[in-house]
Amino acid sequence: MKGPRYALAVDTRTCVGCAACVIGCKEENAVPLGTTRDWIVTETSGVYPALATQFRSERCNHCADAPCVRACPTGSSHYGPGGTVQVNPAKCSGCKACITACPYGARYVDPRTHTVDKCSFCLHRLASGKRTTSCQEICPTASILFGDLSDPESEISRALARRTWTVLLPDAGTEPQHYFLK
Ligand code: SF4
Ligand code: SF4
Repeated sequence: MKGPRYALAVDTRTCVGCAACVIGCKEENAVPLGTTRDWIVTETSGVYPALATQFRSERCNHCADAPCVRACPTGSSHYGPGGTVQVNPAKCSGCKACITACPYGARYVDPRTHTVDKCSFCLHRLASGKRTTSCQEICPTASILFGDLSDPESEISRALARRTWTVLLPDAGTEPQHYFLK
């Protein structure tokens, strides 16, 4: 793919699960009550007393091989700038095929428009010259990195090269572009 390849990474060593990212996203994107574009997962592992808790800020993975795009019968769900996955509400019939197809539970129906929506990687902010997503900007522990993987010098490229990381459901064949730094 030529051009930028946008991706997001969450540092699970420093994320404290405060949910500021969730609030920031709600505010930035006017996400309606009862729906959300990002969320916090808390996972405890180990055997007492040697327990460890991981907090993860999760959202749409902007999959490079996205089942939601394949499932959408109207072309509303599509690949957008930087390889992101976007929804065109003008084309959405509200059939919810994409919601069924997404293995990550990343989509919701907007009760105001009856069309589907989800995280956009804040492309509107990039278009206006900002360099951060709203969740990244508000995170008090700087645990969210967003940037261009086609640039080896970008902060996210350097973090992924330096650290070990994982993605959600790696065997699903969706090629998530949302990483979790270990
Ligand atoms: S996480 Fe779900 S909504 Fe996002 S691109 Fe992947 S399949 Fe589509
Ligand atoms: S609900 Fe909208 S975006 Fe989802 S598959 Fe149907 S038309 Fe496409």
